[in-house]
Amino acid sequence: MTFKCLLTTLLVFLFISVTAQTEQEKIKQLEEQRQIDKQRKSTMKLDSAIRLSEEGRYEEADEKFKAVLKTIRSVPSDLTFHFGKNSFFIGKYKQSVDWLNKYIQLKGTTGQFSEQAVEWLAKAEVELLKEKEREAKQASEVLSKDYTIDCGPTGKVVCTVCKGSTVLVKKGYFGDNYSTCGYCHKLGYLTCIEYNQLLKGTLKPEVSN
Ligand SMILES: [Zn+2]
Repeated sequence: MTFKCLLTTLLVFLFISVTAQTEQEKIKQLEEQRQIDKQRKSTMKLDSAIRLSEEGRYEEADEKFKAVLKTIRSVPSDLTFHFGKNSFFIGKYKQSVDWLNKYIQLKGTTGQFSEQAVEWLAKAEVELLKEKEREAKQASEVLSKDYTIDCGPTGKVVCTVCKGSTVLVKKGYFGDNYSTCGYCHKLGYLTCIEYNQLLKGTLKPEVSN
């Protein structure tokens, strides 16, 4: 191999490696640009969610906040405050308490929204407690539909659907509509079995023509 030939080969290699490097640079730059674009879009979405919330369009804001949460990997602290506060207005108190607590954990008492976060958190906690009390009360209520009712020695009960008249009246635009009661077989009363089925919602009406 002559010296000239060696030099040419060297130059070719140099050229290839430089081209490869710039190619890699380009890919890296594109990737960075993509990340920046993504972040900008998320910020815009977040801004519009906050605006919706301020305008009192809480349900729409909630949807937007959730959409933002789906697209980002790490949640900005401002989002935890705004999402938590917005949740209060749509009665999602558990969600509200959860996110407002996050904000306070992140920012302590010195954050831009710390004071507000503490205020809204207290309100949401009160509502959450009320909600839990309501649920506990409901769970302990005893309802008659869970029992079979004894109808007495006659074994009959006046039909509760037609009140014994065997006829149902429906108000219409052009006067009343009359139809036969489908529950009591034109008798005006129910047997005790039928009555109990009706209470449990399992008595099917006869289809009248
Ligand atoms: Zn009836």
